[in-house]
Amino acid sequence: QAKKRGRGSLSFFSAEMDQLAQERLMLEGALRLAIQSGQLHLQYQPQVALESGELYGVEALARWTHPVLGTISPARFIPLAEECGLIADLGLWAIREACRQLSAWRAKGLAVPAISVNLSPTSFHNLALPQMVADTLRLHRLDAKDLTLELTENILLDTNPYTMKTISALSEQGIRLSMDDFGTGYSSLSYLRRLPVSELKLDQSFVADLEQDPAARALSNAILGIGQSLRLTVVAEGVETDGQTRILRAQGYPVAQGYLFSRPLSPQDMETWMTSALPTTDGTANGGAGPP
Ligand code: C2E
Ligand code: MG
Ligand code: MG
Ligand code: MG
Repeated sequence: QAKKRGRGSLSFFSAEMDQLAQERLMLEGALRLAIQSGQLHLQYQPQVALESGELYGVEALARWTHPVLGTISPARFIPLAEECGLIADLGLWAIREACRQLSAWRAKGLAVPAISVNLSPTSFHNLALPQMVADTLRLHRLDAKDLTLELTENILLDTNPYTMKTISALSEQGIRLSMDDFGTGYSSLSYLRRLPVSELKLDQSFVADLEQDPAARALSNAILGIGQSLRLTVVAEGVETDGQTRILRAQGYPVAQGYLFSRPLSPQDMETWMTSALPTTDGTANGGAGPP
């Protein structure tokens, strides 16, 4: 902000604000560099089918380890990337990296059914996105159904004229779209008819209150009902306890994701988790222990 107003207006800012603005500028530069120089990486969190205990898919989550500042949380750098015009690059990078990883796992014989990548609304402004996704999938010999793109409800507040075109093209290509953080954003349900999503993710705030709050239970049940009547897969996010899992299972939730099953993992830890925590074909846990 200070930069835009020019030097003369700096005196209107307190020293503290000036420091914040400087820190932001510094972080912006660092993030630009991080995207170019491979400081960003992805961690992967398993999504588990509640009935069989089998892996349903994995969600890729971006991580930034700065050489000096250490780990910077996505809650901090994703908004920063949005503000400084880097979010589209970050989205493309995440799609490419996740597809590369999925293909590498499969080459090792690990049965990872699908991978989900989070995209910001801005990524859908790019009419070339569907072709770039198709090229990436082909490069790694993957199928369209191997990739899920997660979007949030605020995509509908976006008035960009290309958004809907890009989304339809992706969907026509067979890419699955998932509505993340469902139930917390844009309040109209009518968009569920307009957006070609095949998955809803129940927001973690509902899951967190399931055991204490009858209203949270009623809403998670109602959201499952909406999803099922539209033939969508509903994934419960942020599952941390056995009690929550019991409730979700009783309600009929097909898939859950959360610390109870595993925290987001490095590719190597994901391989270990898959071979130790998942059921084997005879239905018994393979080593049993599960995630730490
Ligand atoms: P999200 O997509 O809704 O991801 C779920 C977040 O909840 C992740 O936080 C995950 O680590 C965390 N989580 C998973 N299980 C549990 C649990 O049992 N309990 C609790 N308390 N939290 C759990 P993370 O990785 O910090 O990411 C935060 C948000 O940043 C994501 O929310 C997503 O909106 C955004 N994000 C992350 N990676 C990317 C990316 O590559 N691109 C974009 N555009 N956004 C991203
Ligand atoms: Mg997500
Ligand atoms: Mg979410
Ligand atoms: Mg989120």
